[in-house]
Amino acid sequence: MTEILRADTLRKSYDGFLAVDGVSFSVREGELKALIGPNGAGKSTCFNMLTGQLKPSSGEVFLRGARITGKRPREIWRLGVGRTFQITGTYASMSVAENVQMALISHHRRLFGFGARAWKLYRAEALDLLRSVALDDQADRPCSVLAYGDLKRLELAIALSHRPRLLLMDEPTAGMAPSARIDMMQLVADVVRDQGLSVLFTEHDMDVVFAHAHHIMVLNRGKLIADGNAEAVRNDPRVQEVYLGG
Ligand code: ADP
Ligand code: MG
Repeated sequence: MTEILRADTLRKSYDGFLAVDGVSFSVREGELKALIGPNGAGKSTCFNMLTGQLKPSSGEVFLRGARITGKRPREIWRLGVGRTFQITGTYASMSVAENVQMALISHHRRLFGFGARAWKLYRAEALDLLRSVALDDQADRPCSVLAYGDLKRLELAIALSHRPRLLLMDEPTAGMAPSARIDMMQLVADVVRDQGLSVLFTEHDMDVVFAHAHHIMVLNRGKLIADGNAEAVRNDPRVQEVYLGG
């Protein structure tokens, strides 16, 4: 499989404290990869260096071989790296479909324009996207009445509306009940399979990670201590030490 993203010896220090300490890894095309680790391990800091939200203290990030280190978030997003946030940025009073249509407008601005015909095209595309996250039956309901898990699905549809080749999801199942977590990641796994995009996500529920991720990386105190398939990572003594305390 072709490599889409590569992080090379990334470091981030906050006033001398090394939150991320020389992390190197890659994500391949069509891969669903998890970044796990205890609270404070440096997962979000890592993510924010990939999306351009944070400038690394040192190290490089490459997208399909081209250096993107230090580029602005907007530019990295334009190059095909999407992200979902822990807090949803939806318009509560608009319908589910309209929220996706708004995202499509910013994606297609130059292509379709703003007229009634364009709005219809956006509507059709929005419904397609909602179907891919199993939310088309809620298309005309206002966002304000959505259940929490459905809001997370909507957030995924909005991220997909920009047609990313790589999607970064920081704790996509935060705040969900265990069974909803599994469902959400099943959905992400289906999208990865159907659309051939790559997803890198963080998660603290191990069951979710081992059920769905193709590969798993474990971060501890700013250092990667494992990077491999579920079985290798599960059996790694250093990982067991971090998660089971011995
Ligand atoms: P995780 O996402 O794995 O929980 P974070 O990347 O959020 O970890 O944080 C890693 C470490 O860096 C933690 O010790 C945290 O307190 C520290 N940290 C995160 N952001 C900042 C910041 N803006 N300033 C100082 N320290 C920070
Ligand atoms: Mg975090």
